[in-house]
Amino acid sequence: MDIIIKQSSNIKPKNIISEHHKSIIDFSKTWKGDYEELNSFLKSFSIAASADIDIIKPYFRDWSNMDGYADLLVRPKNKFECAIILKTCYNCNILLTISAGKTNLTGSATPRGGIILSTSLLTEPDIELDLENKDASAPTGIPLEDFRNRVLEISDQKLYYPVDPTSRNDAYVGGTLSCNASGFIPGQKGATRYWVKELEFLLPNGDLVHIKRGQYISENGIFSLDYEGKTISLPVPTYNRPKIKNASGIFSDENGIVDLIDLIIGSEGILGIITSCKLGLTDYPKENLELFLSLSSESDAIDFYEFLYDYFDHDMSKITALEYFGYNSQNYMNHKEFLFSNENDVGIYLQIPIFSNSLDSKIDEWIKILQSFNSKLDLDSVVVLNDPESWKKFFEARHSLPDNALTKTHRIGGVSIITDTIVPNYNFRIYLEKVHKNLRRSKIEYLLFGHLGDCHLHFHLIPKKNQEKESLEAYDYMIDLSSKLGGVYSAEHGTGKRKRNDFKKCYGEEAVTMIKNLKTTIDPNNFLNKGNLIG
Ligand SMILES: Cc1cc2nc3c(=O)[nH]c(=O)nc-3n(C[C@H](O)[C@H](O)[C@H](O)COP(=O)(O)OP(=O)(O)OC[C@H]3O[C@@H](n4cnc5c(N)ncnc54)[C@H](O)[C@@H]3O)c2cc1C
Repeated sequence: MDIIIKQSSNIKPKNIISEHHKSIIDFSKTWKGDYEELNSFLKSFSIAASADIDIIKPYFRDWSNMDGYADLLVRPKNKFECAIILKTCYNCNILLTISAGKTNLTGSATPRGGIILSTSLLTEPDIELDLENKDASAPTGIPLEDFRNRVLEISDQKLYYPVDPTSRNDAYVGGTLSCNASGFIPGQKGATRYWVKELEFLLPNGDLVHIKRGQYISENGIFSLDYEGKTISLPVPTYNRPKIKNASGIFSDENGIVDLIDLIIGSEGILGIITSCKLGLTDYPKENLELFLSLSSESDAIDFYEFLYDYFDHDMSKITALEYFGYNSQNYMNHKEFLFSNENDVGIYLQIPIFSNSLDSKIDEWIKILQSFNSKLDLDSVVVLNDPESWKKFFEARHSLPDNALTKTHRIGGVSIITDTIVPNYNFRIYLEKVHKNLRRSKIEYLLFGHLGDCHLHFHLIPKKNQEKESLEAYDYMIDLSSKLGGVYSAEHGTGKRKRNDFKKCYGEEAVTMIKNLKTTIDPNNFLNKGNLIG
């Protein structure tokens, strides 16, 4: 069913807690920085809050392992409580950091003092499915995997939400929206942005905006926030953001035409809090054909990617995974003898959804496709992973890879670096060649694996204790080279606090200013998620 949406660049935010406005303003006039007093004030609205260090401490660090601290933890149960907290922090100028599953690798949920707002109790509204329109509404404070499982359950295994980041058991729906997380499906269907239909969103001042995709589109680079008696112009960034798998910086458009939903997805919480959403769904395959292929070199693997890219007419999302286990991966993989027969081979995991055919006919179809690739592929070495025992071994092998690499780094006293760079597919081969050459010169131990379907591979560096300088230089080399070749420093992990400098190097100081200009119009004191993207 087509729904006609009236398009506009004028947004009318709504104050949903007007009855509390006066008490918040009165409190802000007298508050002198006492967090116990703030704790009591927020509790007077029945908001779960605590200044107990033992309760707050687990929120100081996220998966980035950067140091953080805070004075108070709040756990709002709904958008009204979120609005009260935001309005209070906005008026009192108190730092506020939004924390969800804490699985980010960039310090984006690491607090820098003030309040931590945990979204763990934001479990309203219930998940509701619209089978006809193939979408589901969801709260933002639940693990993504819970949402995915519930969709399958309610739809009787007919529909599913296909974004499947490896961290999906721990990452929350809101965290994945805020970081534009992506999973195994190659192409734009693998990333969160593609599936977002609606957002319920609170601006830093606590006012609510309900957004449908296509409803708010900026005009000449500007959105207008219309309040009674005044209009605030919101300038959207216009830096040139490569149209590839991309989690670097806020969404932008050189012509200044941006959907408000796109501006918020991937903005790492600096523009406000997402309190609920409506996400698109797609047909759930009745089963998948799961294959593991061995090839004798990285060059053959890139040939295979290019072959499939042509075969699928440039739409790689017709397969649901094309993962790569490249240089040195075998040495860090459990069960490698099950997957590989030659120790120098590289591996590819291929997942093909089956909607109507039988598994056997799909296998026959793919034997023909693989035969037409070329003679570099030994069909006898292809492992079908469809039986539970084979799948279990493959699953363990895949997960053992980063674990074993991290364990080794700890053992030798170094600090791992895992890159997230990406370049357009036409520069993929040259990028890899140059990086390998540079890493070989540096003599740092490393391995290479990742999402071949997006030309997005992770170099996992395992430097010795005395190689810290070399490993940072090698990292910088990759960041510079990726942007020189039309790519970016982050395809899926984002910027947070850790990669701010990478953002500046990739897009320039002007782009930093653009984000600052946008942020300042709605958060002049920079109290919300301070430190992410722009200091
Ligand atoms: C082992 C591991 C595997 C991973 N695999 C992948 C992967 O396959 N693909 C991928 O893309 N990423 C991956 N990541 C990175 C990470 O899981 C994602 O970035 C994820 O989206 C973060 O979600 P979270 O709930 O943990 O958010 P958090 O880490 O808690 O927060 C991330 C950011 O989102 C903001 N935020 C959270 N909720 C909201 C909200 N409701 N409104 C506004 N802002 C909000 C926070 O303030 C912060 O800026 C992985 C991480 C780990 C540790």
